Amino acid sequence: MSVSIHPAVDSGVKSGNKDFAGGKLHCHCRDQRVEITVKSQSAHNHVCGCTQCWKPEGALFSQVAVVPRDSLAVTANGNKLKVVDASAAIQRQACKACGVHMYGRIENEKHPFFGLDFIHTELSDEEGWCEPEFAAFVSSIIESGADPAGMDEVRKRLKTLGLERYDCLSPPLMDAIATHTAKAAGVRR
Ligand SMILES: [Zn+2]
Ligand SMILES: [Zn+2]
Repeated sequence: MSVSIHPAVDSGVKSGNKDFAGGKLHCHCRDQRVEITVKSQSAHNHVCGCTQCWKPEGALFSQVAVVPRDSLAVTANGNKLKVVDASAAIQRQACKACGVHMYGRIENEKHPFFGLDFIHTELSDEEGWCEPEFAAFVSSIIESGADPAGMDEVRKRLKTLGLERYDCLSPPLMDAIATHTAKAAGVRR
């Protein structure tokens, strides 16, 4: 059996639908589920090995995408949400009962990704969200307890799945961050 990356990709990456225009996300509670409604397709979906993103039970990676913050609304049981770490750049809103992260929001207007919310599209029953395109922060899974000796196998599996492997973010996202930083420093207009 090949190493499990994330349930959404373990049996192969499913393509998104370019005409898809959003849907609802739910937490894992049996009743009084927190509901998020997103009126937009997602973008930059990827699997992430960092220690901050929410991962389903047993998964080595999370799966995380972005949507415009204006397109996202809490539409039921928002009283169950709490911020996981108020000092983090991304304010991850988790369900207090089941622990699932429903969305992550950047409140710092100077942050390169301000205006985008982070979501886990597997929390939606709808199909058609954009597919994961790459694997970010691969080496960081070691910080969550993965065996360093198993990293070759993990990277091979990601390659087989067609997910380009990075130990940071993908080049377009790293370029976006650097461009933002250069503008803030006055190096670029
Ligand atoms: Zn819940
Ligand atoms: Zn992450």
